[in-house]
Amino acid sequence: MAKYTGPSCRQCRREGVKMFLKGDRCYTDKCAITRRGKVPGQHGGARRGMMKDYGLQLREKQKAKRYYGVLEKQFRNYYVKANATEGMTGENLLKLIERRLDNTVYRMGIAESRRDARQLVRHGHFTINGKKANIPSMLVSLGDEIAVVDKSKSLPKFKSLAENIDNKTAPAWLDVDKEKMSAKVIALPKREDVDFEIREHLIVELYSK
Ligand code: SF4
Repeated sequence: MAKYTGPSCRQCRREGVKMFLKGDRCYTDKCAITRRGKVPGQHGGARRGMMKDYGLQLREKQKAKRYYGVLEKQFRNYYVKANATEGMTGENLLKLIERRLDNTVYRMGIAESRRDARQLVRHGHFTINGKKANIPSMLVSLGDEIAVVDKSKSLPKFKSLAENIDNKTAPAWLDVDKEKMSAKVIALPKREDVDFEIREHLIVELYSK
């Protein structure tokens, strides 16, 4: 699948749920879902009502990919890995993607959205255990320490992020030091740490056909 570059709000409307792709705007009444509450296209709602198994499975997969900003090939690789791991494949899949560095940075509260987090990581503003980490798909592990590079903290972008970090709630698997803009991975993510509604069994059904 090619990289999707269309408007974020359209993706939410396509899936019929808020996916919080635009940061603070998502919490205001400017949100397209809040304002319009329907999928794009004149007959979007009717089509959704008529969806059969395959359609539902496909939409659930698209929703997860869009939520985390992961492309098809990479998403399938996560599925293969999850399937080869002991336990429920669907849960394994989500727990694996949660550990991505871009998602971790977002869950630390140091980015407006996952897309924002991805860009900040790519631009080299973070370290893992003191070493530069600029690959958004890197997976964090138990005991890892993720931190903002000291030099970056004086940038206007990070000053503004630091002002808002207090309003964000980190998941239980991260011990965040808001002052230092850092976090330690104190547990691996659990299914209940996933902060959006997803029926992962539909994704497993789709891939296991
Ligand atoms: Fe747009 Fe955010 Fe609302 Fe989604 S949740 S429709 S990205 S404002």
